Amino acid sequence: MRLRFAPSPTGYLHIGSARTALYNWLLARSAGGTFILRIEDTDRSRSTEEAILAIMEDLRWLGLDWDEGPDVGGPYGPYRQTERMDIYRRAAEGLLEEGKAYRCGCRTGEKCRCREGRPSEGPQAIRFRVEEGETAFDDAIMGPISFDNSSIEDFVLLRSDGTATYHLAVVVDDVSMAVTHVIRGADHISNTPKQILLYRALGKEPPVFAHMPLTVGSDGKPLSKRHGDVALSRYRELGFLPEAMINYFALLGWSLDDSTTIMDRRTLLANFSLDRVSRNPGNWDMNKLTWMNGQHIMRLDGDDLAARLEPFMVGAGLMSSGDRDSMKLLERAVPLIRERIKLLSEAPALLAFLFREVSPETSSLELIKGEAPLRVLEEAERRLASLEPFAAPLIEEALRGMAAEMGMKPRDAFQPLRLAVTGSRVSPPLFESMELVGKERCLKRIRRVRDLARELG
Ligand code: GLU
Repeated sequence: MRLRFAPSPTGYLHIGSARTALYNWLLARSAGGTFILRIEDTDRSRSTEEAILAIMEDLRWLGLDWDEGPDVGGPYGPYRQTERMDIYRRAAEGLLEEGKAYRCGCRTGEKCRCREGRPSEGPQAIRFRVEEGETAFDDAIMGPISFDNSSIEDFVLLRSDGTATYHLAVVVDDVSMAVTHVIRGADHISNTPKQILLYRALGKEPPVFAHMPLTVGSDGKPLSKRHGDVALSRYRELGFLPEAMINYFALLGWSLDDSTTIMDRRTLLANFSLDRVSRNPGNWDMNKLTWMNGQHIMRLDGDDLAARLEPFMVGAGLMSSGDRDSMKLLERAVPLIRERIKLLSEAPALLAFLFREVSPETSSLELIKGEAPLRVLEEAERRLASLEPFAAPLIEEALRGMAAEMGMKPRDAFQPLRLAVTGSRVSPPLFESMELVGKERCLKRIRRVRDLARELG
C-alpha cells in the first residue's frame, strides 16, 4: 500500500487536514506500506515556504513520519510539485499528441471550436477532452458514486503560462508515485471523475478512493474559524498532547467498537481499517477533546509529563529552559497535579507558588481576618518550626493535631495556611505542597501572612 498526504501550503495546517493526514498514515503504517508527503504548491501566489515548514513541524509533532522524498540521504523529502513541472508538461504534451487533449485559447471549458482543432487566438492552455459517457467509482467510504460526463467541462491541464493545474499534477504524481489509496476530504468528490478520466487517458488504473466526511461544528456547518481554533498548532499552544489529538482525530469518523474511547497509537495501528470509517460528518467537540487530553495526561509517566510541562513553565517565566534544579522540583510536583489538569497550559498557574514568592490573593484576605486565623498561623509556625524531617505525612499529623487541640474543623484551620503557602484558596494538596515548598520558605511565608493578619486585625 502506498498512500500520500498532499497539503497545499497556503496557510497553517487545518485540523481537518491533520485528520486526513492521520488516516493516510494509519492505513499505510498498519499495512507495512509507504506514507508519502507531497507538497502541492503549484499555486505559487498562495504557497509559502513558511507554511511548508509549519506543516512539516505539525506532522512531526503528531508523530506522522513520512518515508520518501527527493533528498534521500538526509531527512526525507517532501516532494514538491513546483520541482516537478517538467514531468507534468511532458504528460500534457503526450495527451495532446494522442488527441486526448487540445490547445485552447478560450476562457471557459465550454466545448468550443478549439476542440475541433481550430484553436482560438490568444494564449493557449491545454485542455482535457472529456468524452461522452459516465464515470463511476466505488468509494471505499461513501460507496458507489457516478457522474454523467456531460456535467464535466473540458478542464485545463496546463495553463497558458506552462504551469500544471491541480488535476494534472495530482494524477501524474499519484501515477508516478504508484499511490494505491487516496484518502481525502469529501470536498474532493467532485474532482474525482476528472481525475479518473485522466488516469484512463494515461493508460493507468485509478487508485482506491476513500472520501472522508468533513468535520463540522456544533451548527452542522463545515468547521471553520467561526467555530474557534482550526489551526493544529494552536492546539499545541493550548496544551494538548499529540497523543490526545491523534486519539480524537481517529474517533472523529472511525471507531474501534462501540465503547473504546481512549486509545494509544499502537492500538490505533493494530486496528485501523477503512471499513469502520463512518459516512457521517464528525462533530468537533472541544469538551470531549479536552476530557480526552486529561485522560492522556494521566497516562503519561511522571518524568515524561514533567518534560512536556517544561516549555509551558518556561513560557510562564517560572523557570529557565534546561535548569536542572527547577526540573527536579517540577518532577516532584507532577503527582500533585496530574489528575487535576486537562491541559498542559493549566500547570503554571497551579505550580507557580513552588517557583516564585507569593503573596495572598486579595480576594481571599478575609480568610485571615479575625482571632482564629491569626492563632492558626502563630501556632502552625511554632509547630512546623520544630518538625524534622519536613515531610508531608508528618506535616499532616502536626497540623491535624493542632486543629483538634484548638477545637477547629481541619478545613477552617488549613485555609489560612493554604493561603499563606500557596497564595491562593485553591491549590494542590496542602501537605505535599508544603513539603515541596520546603521548611524555610514555608515558615517565612507563614510569618509574613501572620504579620499581615495582625495588621488586618
Ligand atoms: N492539495 C489538495 C488539498 O490540499 C489535496 C489533493 C488530494 O488529496 O488529492 O486539498
